Amino acid sequence: MNTYARLPVAFTRGEGVWLWDEQGKRYLDAVAGVAVNGLGHAHPKLAQAICAQAKTLIHTSNLYQIPKQEQLGTKLAQLAGMDKVFLCNSGAEANEAAIKLARLYGHNKSIDSPAIIVMEKSFHGRTMATLTATGNRKVQAGFEPLVSGFVRVPYNDIASINQIAEHNKNVVAILVEPVQGEGGIQIPLPAYLQELRRICDSHGWLLMLDEVQTGIGRTGSMFAFQQTGIVPDVMALAKGLGSGFPIGACLAKGIAAEVFKPGNHGSTFGGNPLACAAALATLEAVDEQNLCKQAAEIGAFIRDGLSHQLAGTAGVVQVRGAGLMIGVELDRPCGDLVKLALAQGLIINVTADSVVRLLPPLVMKRDEAQQVVDMLAPLIMDFLARK
Ligand SMILES: *Cc1c(COP(=O)(O)O)cnc(C)c1O
Repeated sequence: MNTYARLPVAFTRGEGVWLWDEQGKRYLDAVAGVAVNGLGHAHPKLAQAICAQAKTLIHTSNLYQIPKQEQLGTKLAQLAGMDKVFLCNSGAEANEAAIKLARLYGHNKSIDSPAIIVMEKSFHGRTMATLTATGNRKVQAGFEPLVSGFVRVPYNDIASINQIAEHNKNVVAILVEPVQGEGGIQIPLPAYLQELRRICDSHGWLLMLDEVQTGIGRTGSMFAFQQTGIVPDVMALAKGLGSGFPIGACLAKGIAAEVFKPGNHGSTFGGNPLACAAALATLEAVDEQNLCKQAAEIGAFIRDGLSHQLAGTAGVVQVRGAGLMIGVELDRPCGDLVKLALAQGLIINVTADSVVRLLPPLVMKRDEAQQVVDMLAPLIMDFLARK
């Protein structure tokens, strides 16, 4: 169906941070399939794990025990310091699980019409519940009636949540991204998540983090929340988890981990042996290659490089980021930059109309990062000078 305005390029092969198109032209990939290909392209360990599992067993069913799923669930719970894991196939599904979990948690407390606090400029997916939770009218328009049970507040604003807490007794949870991705790489104040944790604890609400984009090393730690000293009650993962193989996860801790009972939720494909093998190989490679630390270092290197080269350029509002989640906010819409960069062999993204977004593979090395900076900075300067 006509759901995508696609760029006029088809890639046929990749290796590390590089992609090649049908004409054999080479591109430096600074988007990684939108924060998905953390291990870059054609990672030998991932390819090997997928091939070996495909030759053994691809799918059985959640009617039966699945050892690979138990391994992955145990590994994820250990890494996050959480207790239980539900596996699905995408970010939207991981958030759907979180939303259902929060509602059931509310009903168990005799709250018949549970509400979830969500943020302006957020993105949580394209299913009916997750597009309702999303703070972007473009994602919602035309799909009304939306789902009830969401209350919206500005991102990074504790006061408005305190206000809601005073008069709305139906709130059961807060759903929030530690760094807003689609919203334009919006980074909250350092104490924001800690404040949310404190509010949730004092009201008996669940703190539910959407780490679909920030998770699996992207911001310089395995999960973004690990830089804040708090632990959420619920966390959604997807994008980087399978480094390109579709898989999502909803993790829960403590009381939240006991909410779902057999029959409350499910997925035919979720947690099949092949997807779990891909995710396990991804987690192993992230660990073996020290990719969280590398993401922090290379991310800072790219931000410094761009800040330096763009210093004093009129029209550049801010260079910001966390690890390899980098945004360059301009003072005008800049979607055209994507095609200009593509013509020069550089893959970038623009989100929230005026923010150049970089989400490079976690395996990006310093010399490759330097090339991103050296190609992108002049492109931005030319673009701003021309208009
Ligand atoms: C991409 C994204 C989603 C949706 O993931 P899908 O796999 O496309 O359903 C949800 N939340 C965040 C923060 C995302 O970046």
